[in-house]
Formats: sequence, structure tokens, C-alpha cells
Amino acid sequence: MTHAEMDELYELFVLGALDREEAAEIENHLQDNCTYCTARVREATVLAAAFAGLADVVQPPENLKKRVLNSIAPQRPAVVVPEPKKQSSWLGGMLALGAACVALTFFCLWLGNQTDNLQNRLTAAQHERDQLESALKVLSRSETRTVQFGRADQPQGRLFINRNRGFVFTASRLPRLAADRTFELWYVPPTGAPRKAGLFRSDRNGDTVQISNTAIDPATTNAVAVSVEPDGGSPAPTTTPIIVVPLG
Ligand SMILES: [Zn+2]
Repeated sequence: MTHAEMDELYELFVLGALDREEAAEIENHLQDNCTYCTARVREATVLAAAFAGLADVVQPPENLKKRVLNSIAPQRPAVVVPEPKKQSSWLGGMLALGAACVALTFFCLWLGNQTDNLQNRLTAAQHERDQLESALKVLSRSETRTVQFGRADQPQGRLFINRNRGFVFTASRLPRLAADRTFELWYVPPTGAPRKAGLFRSDRNGDTVQISNTAIDPATTNAVAVSVEPDGGSPAPTTTPIIVVPLG
């Protein structure tokens, strides 16, 4: 067989789809360490591994497809895998390595995704834990005061307030907000402009629990209030508050 003839056969050779005689001839030739053929077999192996792992992405060349289809025509004797020789185990190793590389690439992509998900969940859980810790610090103190607010058909709830620890604000029956609106909490001083105390959205039932661990000076804060503001909040209330909880 000439090199020109063998050029047509390397892909089929690494796929194990050649006649026994043809395969044996190429194997014998490879035993002679022909650098040209060794390089061509390596290329064919990489190509075959890519087809195996990325069947949807890589289109095999048309003539290769034809040759593969011809090679598996009926009445052909089954491909006989020769006894493992030095050359065969090298080929097997290359094939396995190619397939492993493809598998590893997919595994890394999947793992990257999983790690991101896990990181997000961990961050959320840590935030929740910090919030609960702050809430406990407010709720567990004997000097914490509880102020109830709201009437039957209005937003109603409780404000647990501690001048050193902050507050826990619970509310229900909050109105449904447009997508571009948010609730904003305010500290209301005896005189002058209210100070921002945080943004929130209620859950689908109109309930919320908000926790602040900022100390509240009763000398500068008369009330805690809630208004409806454009998404992102406002530096000062732009609507009449829907909730005002006097602290006095
Ligand atoms: Zn050669």
C-alpha cells in the first residue's frame, strides 16, 4: 500500500472499521515507526474522539461519511480486534485519552455551573443567618418595645424596637406593587426630612419581615414610616406614607 492509499484509510483504521488485511498492513507499517503515518494516525484519533463526544457540533467530511457507511455494508466480516500489541495499546490509549478530554471538558462546564449555584445558595443562607441573628438580638432584649399598628382593612403589623440594637418590622396586608415600585422605610425625626431606613418588597401574600441593626436615637426619631417609591428608592418620600408607627 502506498502512502496515498493509506491516507484514505486512517480514519477508518482508528475507528476499527477496516478490513482485517488492510488493518494488518497499516499496523505492520506503523511498527516500522514511520513518522508520517504516526502523525496521520494521531490526527485521525483526535478527529474520531471529537466526533464521539461532539456528534452534534462537528460535521464529518462528506467523503469520510461515505467511506464509513460503505465500510459497514452488510456481509462484511465483523471487525476483529487484534491481540493487543505495543502499537494497539498506544492507539487505544490515544482514543481513551481523546474521549476522556471531551468528557472532562463537559464535566468542567457542569462543575463550574454547580459551583456557581452552590456559591449563590451559600451567600443567601449566610445573609439569612445574619438577618436572623440581628432579629434575635432585637427580640431577645428586655428593653425592646413592641408597637402594634394598623386597622382591620389597612396594612397591619408590629414594630419591635431597641434603641441600641435596631428594629424588627413585620407587616401584612401590604398593597400589591407595580413591577417598577418598591416599599421604602423611613426614620421620621421631630422636625426636618425623614432618613432612609431600607427598601423592601412584600411576598405574594402581602407580608414582610424587615430587620435593621442600626441603633435608633429616640431624640432624633419620632416614628418609623413606609411609603411607596419608584424602584431603587428615593432620597426623600415622594408619596404619602401608607404606614406610620409612632415610637413615643
Ligand atoms: Zn508511512
